[in-house]
Amino acid sequence: MLNWLQNLADLLGLPGGRPKAIPEALWQKTLKRYPFLAQRPAAQRQQLRTLVGQFLQHKEFTGAHGLTVTDDMAVAIAAQACLPVLQLGLSWYDDFTGIVVHPGAMLARRETRDAAGVVHHYKEALLGEAMHGGPVTLSWQDVAASGATAEHGHNVVIHEFIHKIDMRDGAADGCPPLPSRAAHAAWHDTMQAAYDGFCEQVAMAERFGGAPPWLDAYGATAPAEFFAVACEAYFVNRERFTQDFAALTVLFDRFFKRK
Ligand SMILES: [Zn+2]
Repeated sequence: MLNWLQNLADLLGLPGGRPKAIPEALWQKTLKRYPFLAQRPAAQRQQLRTLVGQFLQHKEFTGAHGLTVTDDMAVAIAAQACLPVLQLGLSWYDDFTGIVVHPGAMLARRETRDAAGVVHHYKEALLGEAMHGGPVTLSWQDVAASGATAEHGHNVVIHEFIHKIDMRDGAADGCPPLPSRAAHAAWHDTMQAAYDGFCEQVAMAERFGGAPPWLDAYGATAPAEFFAVACEAYFVNRERFTQDFAALTVLFDRFFKRK
């Protein structure tokens, strides 16, 4: 099988080499796989397609555990990764090149120290991981399911790439680099209020068995996770997200669309 990415890679290093346009059939397949991309206005889809070509030119995909990353998979990941930076630009992702794709969830070794000073070792199932200044790791099984899980506001690719955006100014703290002190203050106020309300809702549901909130409760674990989880929903199910977080939609529009 002709590997289109390999052809693309061959262009790298050639002076004036331009990224090849993504083949029509492959692009259409990607849109079909992810209705939240297909539903975007034609001009935005075209812009995304161009950005995806540039993204693929600069990123390196590696399959873990014997997984072969096909063109199909690379374009699927790239198309979702580029969505948050459609207006911001690819320079937001210029601190890394590697994207590692696992066949399914990864088991990561973790340890915690309890109040008595005892260290507990355990394994945690991860759908993805983003390292500061390093690669993004993703579970293909979950990337592939992202068309269907958009209904619930889930998207593992967007989640991890939002962490990368968040970490542009250091630690993942739920606040990306912003242009001014005023923007920073507005971000903090709006996010903090939404986060506090959400944590309260999650806690109430857990304590009293009430209905859990629509947004993934994982967002209540830390401000950085809240930012990532909220953005997943904002990008793949804006309408439903806005019902619960209208103020965040305005805040995110201002940041991601540079309004
Ligand atoms: Zn996360």
